[in-house]
Amino acid sequence: MITAIIAAAGKGVKAKQNKNKVLSSVNGKTVLEMTLLPFLKNERVDEIIIAIGRTDEEEMKELVNRVCTRYFKPIKLVYGGGTRSESVVNALKAAQTDIVLIHDGARPYLTEELLDRCIDCTIKYGSAVPTVPAVDTMSRVYDDGRLAYGEDRSRLCSVQTPQCFFHSQILKAYSMVCETDNFTDDAGVYSKYIEPAKTVEGDVRNKKLTFKSDFDGGVLYNTGIGFDMHKLTEGRKLILGGVQIPHEKGLLGHSDADVLTHALMDALLSAAGLKDIGHYFPDTDDKYKDISSLTLLEQVISLLEQKGYSVHNAAAVIMAEKPKLAPYVDKIIHKLSQVMHISPENLGITCTTLEGLGFIGREEGIGAHATALIYKDDTVNN
Ligand code: MG
Repeated sequence: MITAIIAAAGKGVKAKQNKNKVLSSVNGKTVLEMTLLPFLKNERVDEIIIAIGRTDEEEMKELVNRVCTRYFKPIKLVYGGGTRSESVVNALKAAQTDIVLIHDGARPYLTEELLDRCIDCTIKYGSAVPTVPAVDTMSRVYDDGRLAYGEDRSRLCSVQTPQCFFHSQILKAYSMVCETDNFTDDAGVYSKYIEPAKTVEGDVRNKKLTFKSDFDGGVLYNTGIGFDMHKLTEGRKLILGGVQIPHEKGLLGHSDADVLTHALMDALLSAAGLKDIGHYFPDTDDKYKDISSLTLLEQVISLLEQKGYSVHNAAAVIMAEKPKLAPYVDKIIHKLSQVMHISPENLGITCTTLEGLGFIGREEGIGAHATALIYKDDTVNN
């Protein structure tokens, strides 16, 4: 029988998350949820024991119920202790098993391949500890903050989890720990009291989330969609994407009726989870009478920027029977991309007729569809 023990009782002070870091999210997912998945999915793991802090109990129970029910795998919660070692011992005592995999709750990028390597190595050699070669130069530091070079990097490695042992052996090793010991992992205990633990090839992706910047990680992308249509009428200018296009008719509307820019604005607003242009620029407000829609687009961009978003790219299709729009597309792209703070290559505008079909085909109106991709970059300057 194989049991996974997840150490999740820590406070994670260095992570500055105002709560247990395993309950924080990375890219919209709870860290512990990600950590549990490989153990839930791997058929060789029979049960999971999570060492939790008392203050997190309710949240942990809710998470376990939500995440684990579809996997039909027994999960136990045990109270952790004041240190990681105490938490692990509590969990070890709650297990009746042959092999244990002890894993940090804040290591959410474990692969099933690494998990399998650890189990295989333990069956063969009695223990398994994943390691990756040290990448940075390593050195001790003197009390006065100066470096004491001299470590041979080729002999150094970073030690990861899951660390895998026979249950009876690691429990025996922990029973021998004395007050002067100060272990930061289970392999240290095993290596001192049983035998030097056996290493397996770790995985650089299997990183332990430790600092605040580890949680801010990544760029968040959101897509949005917009659509608009306006009626063609005599006595109005035809404005598309802020460019005046010679035509005997123009579009009817409260503003300049720039159908393309309106569709783009709705695409951008919807990507940011904001309301549509009618909400921000109501056609009952005289302020917006005959206003250039580029001015409104500028305001949409600043609404997005207030939420931390920038535009990645956008695309739109204009549906018009007449006039021929292709000669104006470059100018339209130039104008719109400037207002959207993107390079012209990141704005795609296509034009189509409707082959005489429907009211666009009958030249009664012009329509536009648009999509936008916006992003929030949390990786720097936090
Ligand atoms: Mg409109």
